[in-house]
Amino acid sequence: MRRFLANMMVIAAALCLTGIPLRAGEKPAAKGPDEDGTKPALVKIAGEGLLNSHAFQYLTELSDDIGGRVTGSVNERKAEDWGLAKMKAMGLENVHTEKYTIWRGWTRGIAEAEILSPVRHKLHVDAMGWTGSTPAGGAEGELVTVNMFDFDTEIKNAARLKGKVALVVRRGKPSKDFMMLFAQLGDFLKAAGSAGTIAIIVGQGGGKSAGMNLTHTGILGFDADFSVPVVSMTAEDQGQLERFLDRGIAPRVRFSVQNTFTNGPVETANVVGEIRGREHPEEIFVVGGHLDSWDLAEGTTDNGSGTAATLGAADAIVRSGQRPRRTLRFVLFTGEEQGLNGSFAYIKQHKTELANHLGDLILDYGQGPVKGFQLGGRDDLIAVFQPFADSLSNLHPVKVDDRVETGTDTLPFTIAGLPGINMLQDTTDYEYTHHSAADALEAQKQDVLTHNATLMALAAFWIADRPERFASPWPAERTAKMLRAQHTYEELKAFNLWPYGDLGAEDKDKQPQN
Ligand SMILES: [Zn+2]
Repeated sequence: MRRFLANMMVIAAALCLTGIPLRAGEKPAAKGPDEDGTKPALVKIAGEGLLNSHAFQYLTELSDDIGGRVTGSVNERKAEDWGLAKMKAMGLENVHTEKYTIWRGWTRGIAEAEILSPVRHKLHVDAMGWTGSTPAGGAEGELVTVNMFDFDTEIKNAARLKGKVALVVRRGKPSKDFMMLFAQLGDFLKAAGSAGTIAIIVGQGGGKSAGMNLTHTGILGFDADFSVPVVSMTAEDQGQLERFLDRGIAPRVRFSVQNTFTNGPVETANVVGEIRGREHPEEIFVVGGHLDSWDLAEGTTDNGSGTAATLGAADAIVRSGQRPRRTLRFVLFTGEEQGLNGSFAYIKQHKTELANHLGDLILDYGQGPVKGFQLGGRDDLIAVFQPFADSLSNLHPVKVDDRVETGTDTLPFTIAGLPGINMLQDTTDYEYTHHSAADALEAQKQDVLTHNATLMALAAFWIADRPERFASPWPAERTAKMLRAQHTYEELKAFNLWPYGDLGAEDKDKQPQN
């Protein structure tokens, strides 16, 4: 009640100052940096960010000196120590790790394949993450196709795959929504594993590899592991196999894949450091990227770039000498590649603090220039954010929308009713570099990273420093409705991430109660 009254007084005061009478329910126009007093600080931060940037240096160290860092591995722990040291050295406050466990650890071993007939040569493959092994020494068999667009039938007929290698293709019309088919891939892999399939060839998201002679590793679900060996194959090799099959020739192939799982959960940790707020230190805006990566290269663009942008942004703000009204909490998440485990763990560990959160800001779309801010379903914030976005037009034009990004550490915040803000990037090469052997420092242009880190610093500081609080969590029902309206319900449900039951559903769509 006191809060309500205080708000009324603020509105009344604003009315007096502007002298413009507002109709009931009408909000005063949102202010940008030119009107809300944040501009002088932003000018200093932009100067540090653009002319004195350390972001590329951070990225070089993380890429070359640490390299690939699979969650729970020795190298990933090394990256945690490195992140801690960087945060301390730049002068962040309250620097620490927040430990949690993921369900199992996994280590890549060999992945070798060969076509034996009708021609004979090596096939280029790499194991998908958290998948199993062939018998020691490998196994050979006939290659058969499996149609991803009809997994219902393929799962029923999985017994035919015994002693065969299965190549997942897409034929005809999909039987259901693409994300649902990807979710069903897990059921198929289990059925194929039980049937005694030697190995399965399927790329990320069920697709074919992109790029010249590249494989793309990755996880095949949220928190998902499979005992059957699953490999990504280069488009060139896979194309040849498909052409043989189309001509009615069943190639004989040999596969030898060895990976190891841990027996139980493994420990990992998010790395956290803060710039405490000068007026409302208890109110928190999270800024981050993910520290973990895959292991076929250095993990530069996925997501060394986001890690370096986050640290570069923090460093620019610290060196500018500016302290925001509210706390900026910089978080390098781990476990992103296994199902956003780090950001889900964060939401769990900070449950009691969430009402004081303003959202999170994530950069995880590789090496390209930022072209927009997606406000994670919060249509109420577009008008609030737009004047800030407009203020960047001389430096770097950006678009603003309220789209939900489900593929990175924005999602757990969005599910919690907070704006999980995604920095959208113009990043065509990412298709080739992410999760592949090409994910190395060569892929990131230094000036682009400098710009991205500066934009991150400016957006983060402005959100935390503007006089009015940027956002508060939406109630569950409003969030559930929004997530349904943005067509994420099916996908979240399929991956067991939908926490809302019938909330937000139209009456006709509610599940029967028995
Ligand atoms: Zn990523």
